[in-house]
Amino acid sequence: MPDQDARRRIPRTDALLALPALVEAATRHGERVVRAAVTEAQQQARDGRITPEEVPAAAEAALPRRPTSLRAVINATGVVVHTNIGRAPLSAGAIEALSLAAGYVDVEYDAETGARARRGRGTIAALLDAVPAAGGALVVNNGAAALVLATTALAAGREVVVSRGEMVEIGDGFRLPDLIESTGARLREVGTTNRTTLADYRAAVGPETGCILKVHPSNFRVEGFTSSVGVAELSTLGRPVVMDIGSGLLHPDPLLPVEPDATTALTDGATIVTASGDKLLGGPQAGIILGEAATVERLRRHPLARALRVDKLTLAALEATVRGPRTPVTAYLHADPAEARRRTEALAAALGRKVVDVVGRVGGGGAPGLELPGCAVELPERCAAGLRRGDPCVVARVERGRCLVDLRCVPPEQDDRLEAAIRAALADGI
Ligand SMILES: *Cc1c(COP(=O)(O)O)cnc(C)c1O
Repeated sequence: MPDQDARRRIPRTDALLALPALVEAATRHGERVVRAAVTEAQQQARDGRITPEEVPAAAEAALPRRPTSLRAVINATGVVVHTNIGRAPLSAGAIEALSLAAGYVDVEYDAETGARARRGRGTIAALLDAVPAAGGALVVNNGAAALVLATTALAAGREVVVSRGEMVEIGDGFRLPDLIESTGARLREVGTTNRTTLADYRAAVGPETGCILKVHPSNFRVEGFTSSVGVAELSTLGRPVVMDIGSGLLHPDPLLPVEPDATTALTDGATIVTASGDKLLGGPQAGIILGEAATVERLRRHPLARALRVDKLTLAALEATVRGPRTPVTAYLHADPAEARRRTEALAAALGRKVVDVVGRVGGGGAPGLELPGCAVELPERCAAGLRRGDPCVVARVERGRCLVDLRCVPPEQDDRLEAAIRAALADGI
């Protein structure tokens, strides 16, 4: 306990709140947060943990360093689209668009005439320019919402014909069959887990059919004695075909030969294609609907569309993603192996560690089974926890008793911070 005299020297709350650094902090964090930091610092002095003279600095130190509880993470897992750490990192253009859209913007306003304008028209135009095979486009909250809207508008109270081999769980216990049945549509499953033929679909299609659904099994592969029916054949059955491509590739990517893309699905005859915005497309979380103009319009006018609509931030970031240069996701997927090895060897040499070959993954429901050859710095397994808890927070891969730091998804300008974080984790607990 400090003596009475020291207690009297503890600065008063209003004097502390008037300090320029705390006034400035109040504009960012709000008065309540700054007051809490001040109270905390005064308490430290009352408890004798610091001197009264140290209170202003302690109040500053007690301020939150970030305006959100979310922490930035360095992704050293080698998994490009990692759902637990936020899927796609946005491009510089998309980040600029987000910040612009944070203020008042003409999202639904025609500044020329002063009249109301179609919401998200710039984003729709960007999608239609990128995918000329689509007559219409619509953006909703996520891939699951896109699928719900399509099946509700086309098949509520009727049947959705779908292959048993495509009734997937998309993660965290969400199963497509449950999602679709929640819309009031009935599932009409055809075929078996490993094989479904056109005849199976043909036998099931009838007056009750609202649509035929094809789902890309994006997080597993069935190998061996298998067969499935492509969109081109399904489109001959005289019913709307909805294709959930999952990952949001707009065009074929030679690196991902078995991953479906929107352009091919539409050219093959899909009526509607649904996809996520934050997987291989590399944008913000969004559900993208592309397809025949009249059907997209039907979806847009469905009452549910209003409940699934996206905000101006998403529209802005998605437009910038679709129009803009290569996204980080594309850059990481197509990373030059020689350059990646050079950076990895430099980091390993600086740390006195070994480089090992590893297999990277697309992740997040894209190209299951596709192996991206790469390399990583090998560390003792115990480093993984230190890296996670350090600042910056680094998420590495733990495999067979080793902690592997893969630079595939680390922007080169972060290499120095990463090296410092590894040094700290190595020193920790020695
Ligand atoms: C990821 C995925 C979804 C769900 O998309 P979200 O954007 O995560 O809602 C649906 N279908 C498939 C095939 C997927 O890969």
